[in-house]
Amino acid sequence: MKLPVYLDNSATTPMDPKVLEAMLPYFLENFGNASSRSHVYGWAAEEAVDIAREQVADLIGAHPTEIVFTSGATEAINLATKGTFESHFGKGNHIITCVTEHRAVLDSCEWIERNGGKVTYLPVDETGLINLQNLENAITDDTILISILYANNETGVLQPIEKISAIAKKHGVLFFTDATQAVGKILVNVQDDGIDLLSMSGHKLYGPKGVGALYVRRKNPKVTIFPQIHGGGHEKNMRSGTQNVPGIVGFGKACALCMANLNNESEIVTQLRDLLEQKLLAIDGARVNGTTENRLPNITNMSFDGINGDNLLLEICNEIALSRGSACSSVTSKPSHVLMAMNVPDELALSSFRFSLGRFTTLSEIEYSCKAFAEIVEKHRNNLKLSAVNI
Ligand code: PLP
Repeated sequence: MKLPVYLDNSATTPMDPKVLEAMLPYFLENFGNASSRSHVYGWAAEEAVDIAREQVADLIGAHPTEIVFTSGATEAINLATKGTFESHFGKGNHIITCVTEHRAVLDSCEWIERNGGKVTYLPVDETGLINLQNLENAITDDTILISILYANNETGVLQPIEKISAIAKKHGVLFFTDATQAVGKILVNVQDDGIDLLSMSGHKLYGPKGVGALYVRRKNPKVTIFPQIHGGGHEKNMRSGTQNVPGIVGFGKACALCMANLNNESEIVTQLRDLLEQKLLAIDGARVNGTTENRLPNITNMSFDGINGDNLLLEICNEIALSRGSACSSVTSKPSHVLMAMNVPDELALSSFRFSLGRFTTLSEIEYSCKAFAEIVEKHRNNLKLSAVNI
């Protein structure tokens, strides 16, 4: 077993070796620019991008022409939110989102506010869910976009996406969902879910980093967004810049692998996650944060009473690689905004950990991790008691 055991798959997944294999020819042999229309190098690259576009579209039930390749989910989120805001200039300027969104959504919304827009931030309850009546009440004549996270990156909690999209549709408002953590882990289908815009990322589904996509609905309704990166008019004028061909090929392959294994993989990961949770709940003062009913198969967020979370992470880092929450905010030792919004007391939020499993997690890794975690918690608590006595 390779140590430390990797239980931080929500920060990034290891790349599947089959993805690397698919990418390799596009670095050296087929190095062409997918926009070069006058020779075979360009044609080969363009063909590879077309295939990847189909693979990405297939995974979410979209049409290939609805896929805009980006540098990742952060860029896709910026494009969806700011791009919708700018395309609706003079027709409405209000966006509804939620306090537990990823920073990429929250920061884009702050930018929108600085540029004359209005944003409503819906609260969540203790289980991490928004209230649908609150959502409907927040809609005004100026509302142009509802942006609600599909699955939370810290807790795995799934919002009621179909009900949210039904409300959006009833009021003629576009619905964007950041599905970065959900796509490839559970079945996401833009038609069944009634989604107009959706962000996703290669490195969360065993593909490469630095590539992602925005799904943009082409009919019923046809969604128009303004580009945020200007240049040569790539990606149907929605995102200029020479396409990252090897990255896009890898992203496509990763999506095809997820599509082929989704049900089986999700069942195995759920069993391993449930086993881990059950064993860790046996530790004194342990609890799970967020609903356990509707959540991703691979995440559990747990708090342990009387622990200094940051210290414990360091104490355990040779045994288990895990994090307190989002990788983007893991450098701060502030309580997570997601847990705070769920009314988790500060002290417990600071002693919480996100355990995120993946395709390559094994039963022996889970058994090893549970044992190591319980031992380190005990040692940590004893040390805290000793230092309290010495004071
Ligand atoms: N949205 C969610 C829910 C995420 O978990 C992440 C990554 O942590 C992102 C967006 C940003 O993705 P990327 O790294 O592709 O920019």
